[in-house]
Amino acid sequence: MHEPERFKSPEYLAILDETGPSEVCRLSPSALNSMQEAAKKYYPLEACGLLIGTCNNGWQVDEARQIENLNKERAADRFQLDPAGYRNVDRELRGTGREIIGVFHSHPDCPAKPSPTDLESAWEGFVYPIVSICDGEVADILFWTLNRDRSRFQPLLVKHS
Ligand SMILES: [Zn+2]
Repeated sequence: MHEPERFKSPEYLAILDETGPSEVCRLSPSALNSMQEAAKKYYPLEACGLLIGTCNNGWQVDEARQIENLNKERAADRFQLDPAGYRNVDRELRGTGREIIGVFHSHPDCPAKPSPTDLESAWEGFVYPIVSICDGEVADILFWTLNRDRSRFQPLLVKHS
């Protein structure tokens, strides 16, 4: 796996909680497939999108939907979800019992680990899968969430269901 130097820097290491996964995220096969397909379609640019499901009793992701990445200048290593896309999905889900429970994005030719920029834009209680895509092929996908004091990302254990 290709790992740029910055992923070994103190700023990057400081935002990872190394204590190991403590919470579980359940994931449907179609949601996994949608994230992988979005990452491949946009390579070498970053893909991003929303996770849809429920979080009544732990996270259950049953759908992932790609949303336009508005960051055109740095689309290879930054993403900015189209707010209109977010609002449309949010509106569509109103009253259905399903909701937006996370945001996925891809890291072209980089590890599936969050960056300090990812931390700045992360929301509490959301699930953040990162798809590592190297030479156009999905290499890894890791799931993260903010820890209690929101200073770091902690890894989640994924159960396929
Ligand atoms: Zn990122």
